[in-house]
Amino acid sequence: MTLGILGGGQLGYMLALAGYPLGLHFRFLDPSPEAPVGRIAQRVTADYTDHAALEKFSSGLELVTYEFENVPVEAAKFLAERVPVYPPPAALEAAQDRLAEKTLFRTLSISTTEFLPVPKPGDLDVATRQFGLPAVLKTCRMGYDGKGQWILRTAEDIAKAKLELPKVPHILERFVPFARELSVLAVRSRNGETAFYPLVENHHRGGILRLSLAPAPSLAPPLQRAAEVIARRVLESLKYVGVLAIEFFEHEGRLLANEMAPRVHNSGHWTIEGAVTSQFENHLRAVLGLPLGSTAAAGHCAMINLIGDLPEPSEVLAVPDAHLHFYGKAPRPGRKLGHVTLRAASPERLALRLSELPAFFHRPDFCLDSAPVQSASHRA
Ligand code: AMP
Repeated sequence: MTLGILGGGQLGYMLALAGYPLGLHFRFLDPSPEAPVGRIAQRVTADYTDHAALEKFSSGLELVTYEFENVPVEAAKFLAERVPVYPPPAALEAAQDRLAEKTLFRTLSISTTEFLPVPKPGDLDVATRQFGLPAVLKTCRMGYDGKGQWILRTAEDIAKAKLELPKVPHILERFVPFARELSVLAVRSRNGETAFYPLVENHHRGGILRLSLAPAPSLAPPLQRAAEVIARRVLESLKYVGVLAIEFFEHEGRLLANEMAPRVHNSGHWTIEGAVTSQFENHLRAVLGLPLGSTAAAGHCAMINLIGDLPEPSEVLAVPDAHLHFYGKAPRPGRKLGHVTLRAASPERLALRLSELPAFFHRPDFCLDSAPVQSASHRA
């Protein structure tokens, strides 16, 4: 049985690795001839808008899923006329546009950061007057890893933004002085079964996820319940199939939904070694209509992204219960090249393991030294 996957990056790579023990085969479509999955699976190099290539790609596939949320919705719809496509294209549509996403949260009575549309730069003054400063300005589409986003702190920042803003729709959000960032991974199968992983605490550097702690330390049980209620609302409203990630700010003891990703997620990589069933395997089970696996954590994990450069493998693997993942991508500043997961029986042991990592991880630009023992402070 062959599954088609749109996008051939590391998420697709790890989906395939999870699918091989289940006897699955994979065919990927990615515009880049360098997409990492080429090392381990069939890869079609074509643009998502190339209908002839999509037609050929879909031939003989059991179903199509994706590992990249900026796949054009039109491509997903084109494929959905030929083979089942999960998650539904409507989920892509909602997640690709911050205004649609936040409006969906609001419609479902999910607390979210306060926002206002800024259709053109001239609308920025009205919006900032309403929220005051600081405020966060974001492009509605194609923003990720902190790109397409500005924190406005002064009148000069507003003037500069008005001059430099790309001529595309934006939203302005009220700045949230959150206590920490959390995310939940939820999964819904074709037959409606749902499951939820424990909330994860996330730490960013320069807008890119650097470290996840799972389960999130010192978590009040009502927050986990609240995250599950929220995620279930989104899953059910979209008749969602697959893994869905929702990112939150924890603020004054409550969850504010910031954004969602209709796919497996970087803050779920810890599940490969740290949960009974990984997010990748559960995504495949969900889209195939197989029973979901347990989402329980097997201990305490820290997942550290390797961004821009890589450590010496032997030094990392000398740390007990350290697991190393390289994605086979050429090093480039700001590029996610791999990750390390550390697993331990208790949060105290995990802190010890983190301190045992080689000097590579204890540079000032990393964020290991303060993060695991105390909660995140706002990065901005
Ligand atoms: P996003 O692309 O929406 O995930 O934003 C990237 C990062 O910017 C988040 O992980 C937060 O650290 C920060 N951020 C985004 N929106 C806000 C906000 N409204 N208030 C404070 N910080 C924010």
